[in-house]
Amino acid sequence: MYTDITLDHFKSPRNVGIIEDADGVGSAGDPNCGDYLIIYIKVENGFVSDIKFQVHGCCGAIASSSMTTVLAKGKPLMAAYTISNKDIMEALGGLPEEKEHCSLLGAVALKKAIANYASKLKKSQ
Ligand SMILES: [Zn+2]
Repeated sequence: MYTDITLDHFKSPRNVGIIEDADGVGSAGDPNCGDYLIIYIKVENGFVSDIKFQVHGCCGAIASSSMTTVLAKGKPLMAAYTISNKDIMEALGGLPEEKEHCSLLGAVALKKAIANYASKLKKSQ
């Protein structure tokens, strides 16, 4: 079963939406249950100043994506980059075993969004 924290994030996900002028965008999908996640970040002085996500997926994917954005918001980029599946699962109080793969999406999409931001930086230098 899902924990109360997971159900809370599923019922009222945090930081849902799009950032039109995002500094970095990353996506991840899980073909097994059709989950698809896009994460948008804004970066200020090396910190994740804002983060939003759009997800199409199951309860586990929605809750873990929401928790990913909560964990990353306001963090230094490097700290956000190292957020792992384990961190996300622990913050949710655990996920049912068959739903653990859904917690992968958040960490993957977040890393891609930060990498996207970093690649843009290189180009502008
Ligand atoms: Zn799923």
